Amino acid sequence: MSTADTSTDELTAEAERVLRICTACMYCDGLCPVFPAIDDKHEFRLSDLNYLSNLCHNCRGCWYACQYAPPHPFAVNLPATLAAVRRRSYADHLWPPVLGRAFGSPVTGIAAIVSLIVLATLAFVLLSSPPAALFGADDSEGAFYRVLPWSIMAGAAGASLLWAVACIGLATLRFWRTMAPDVPRGALLRALAPALRDIVTLRHLGGGGPGCNDVGERTSHHRRLFHHVMVAGFAGTALSTVSAAIYHHALGVAAPYPLASLPVLLGLVGGVVMLAGIAGLLWIEHRADTEPSDRTEVALNVTFLILLGLVTLSGLAVLAFRETPAMGLLLAGHLGLVFGFFVVLPFSKAVHAPFRAAALLRAAAEKAAAGARSKRDRG
Ligand code: SF4
Ligand code: SF4
Repeated sequence: MSTADTSTDELTAEAERVLRICTACMYCDGLCPVFPAIDDKHEFRLSDLNYLSNLCHNCRGCWYACQYAPPHPFAVNLPATLAAVRRRSYADHLWPPVLGRAFGSPVTGIAAIVSLIVLATLAFVLLSSPPAALFGADDSEGAFYRVLPWSIMAGAAGASLLWAVACIGLATLRFWRTMAPDVPRGALLRALAPALRDIVTLRHLGGGGPGCNDVGERTSHHRRLFHHVMVAGFAGTALSTVSAAIYHHALGVAAPYPLASLPVLLGLVGGVVMLAGIAGLLWIEHRADTEPSDRTEVALNVTFLILLGLVTLSGLAVLAFRETPAMGLLLAGHLGLVFGFFVVLPFSKAVHAPFRAAALLRAAAEKAAAGARSKRDRG
């Protein structure tokens, strides 16, 4: 059954059917943490399905290993089924709940909102900034704030970021509450360190050695590598923003900063590295086999990557052309993209990171509790 057009109940029934076949088979045990988590399980509640779907990292290994995949009459397609359940888990736990509907049409919804915010920012800047600041070549201290005053720039960025953090934080809390493991508090505490290690190192993207099935049956570590590269670049740009805030508030120097300054160097290196990671992940999405995937989840992935890429590219364009008359409009476009990016984050693929972290924490906690039980039994 294709998961693209299945209704909620059909999807739940399909996920239960496929997982019951896997539980009886267990041929793929060892490929990823999903299989130890379903071992000996015969019933799958909605909370279990949500947990398992976020534990799956879509490596596609079980699709290529499966003897019950189509054309077998069992038609098992575990990666696509879990991808559809995973996307539904994002929508079901979003806060405010009305946002969940946005997951029905992520690309058009996200594109429309970001375009509107970019246009609104450009219109505001065109109407409020003096033409000399907007169209003149000026890279002297404070030039950016003559295009858009600091209080408006920081206020809009802060409010949209706060919105994103609050919505994603509350959604993650709702998700955790519905699928928190039934384990002693000690097991949960002991699970924190291994879960954190799995999250930071993306250990499971290693597939226990060979990596993910990026192109057909060929495995590689490219997905893991490009994830790390993108996150490293993001960390560089975040540090650039922090250092710029220190320059502004502690040293009393307003942007734009010299090329050899910390904010510019961190932003430049971080931006280029992040673009390399984004390009690599888009390249993997482009070459991937579409059968073991959920079309809407792929669209979510690509939309998020393109949007993050546009934010990064527009920031680098401001840096490259800041001494020219194009700086004003480029800065306004970049800021509009940043505000729009923050506003749509709660219903973008960004929720994947905290939901997966929560699933990995439950997996580590259940492992710690099982270890403690077997130690008790032996002793
Ligand atoms: S994906 Fe296929 S081969 Fe792997 S455990 Fe499930 S049914 Fe068995
Ligand atoms: S696609 Fe990969 S991570 Fe997902 S269930 Fe299959 S083997 Fe596990």
